[in-house]
Amino acid sequence: MQTKRWNVTNESSSKAAIIEAAVLLKEGLPVAFPTETVYGLGADATSYNAVAKIFTAKGRPQDNPLIVHIAEIKQLDEFAVHIPSYVLPLLRAFSPGPLTYILPSNGKCATNVTAGLDTIAIRIPNHPIALQLLQAVQLPIAAPSANLSGKPSPTTGAHVWNDLYGKIAGVLDGGATGVGVESTVIDCTGDSPVILRPGGVTKEQLEKVVGPVKTDPALNNENKKPKSPGMKYKHYAPEIPLWLVTGSASHMQKVIRQEQDNGKRIGVLASTKTIAQLEADQLKPLGDNPQKIAATLYDALRAYKKESIDLIICETFPETGIGQAIMNRLKKAATRIL
Ligand code: AMP
Ligand code: MG
Repeated sequence: MQTKRWNVTNESSSKAAIIEAAVLLKEGLPVAFPTETVYGLGADATSYNAVAKIFTAKGRPQDNPLIVHIAEIKQLDEFAVHIPSYVLPLLRAFSPGPLTYILPSNGKCATNVTAGLDTIAIRIPNHPIALQLLQAVQLPIAAPSANLSGKPSPTTGAHVWNDLYGKIAGVLDGGATGVGVESTVIDCTGDSPVILRPGGVTKEQLEKVVGPVKTDPALNNENKKPKSPGMKYKHYAPEIPLWLVTGSASHMQKVIRQEQDNGKRIGVLASTKTIAQLEADQLKPLGDNPQKIAATLYDALRAYKKESIDLIICETFPETGIGQAIMNRLKKAATRIL
């Protein structure tokens, strides 16, 4: 498939590109676009054939359902039923934004969007290009992250291009996304919301609006079946092994030296402060606050190449706020946790 790449970083050039992309989506072709979390690979959620092209391009397992993107809150009940009362204050506080609602489906979207489940995942993205595209196309758009399945999610147009060139109809390249980790997925089929995947909206933020929020026990227990099918897969893996090392900078340095003595070339991922205290073959600072670390993480995971590095050693971070999403992704990416 021929892949188009539109530069949509300035408003004057983006209008025509968005209309062109919307036409391709209406024709049933897959097109990638930026959201505030990561790039999404979109297709018409009402068309089985269009949605099937997402699974093929990504190499995504068929039992992993997709998030449906809509432009406005009022469209929610076009696709979901039995919306509980606690969803309204959440919508007011976080939508558009990085929060995905799992609700009973009314069956209007194609069966492969929901992977045969009777629930549907819905989100309103908070990115001008994504919202303009949704307005232009006037369709619900199914869109998982626009990467090859298993690889780190794409946070730039170049990441999408590297993974999916020749496999999709186009990418609206709007530069780097903001949040950097995917949306928080909450199950809204019970009496209170349950976090199925930590993400851009933190547990603490949710609790300020609706009181105590539970987390799916399967998130921290590999023996339990997750309610979000995607959470059972290994994800976000860089092309070289990744070790997560908890402890002081001097402890990390000891591990680095030991593995260098074993003949390995070591690349480090850590906060700017920790990096300043370390020596290794390559060092990549992730930033000096959790928001920055989330925004840089996937690009940094992609940047280490096997030609120059044999092992990535990465610091661990406190699991509060956006740190929950950061650590969830790092644990899934890791080949060893020390
Ligand atoms: P991605 O679009 O790749 O960021 O992944 C979307 C996440 O939402 C995956 O973990 C899916 O398993 C999850 N998801 C999508 N639809 C549902 C659903 N109906 N029930 C539970 N989880 C879902
Ligand atoms: Mg994904």
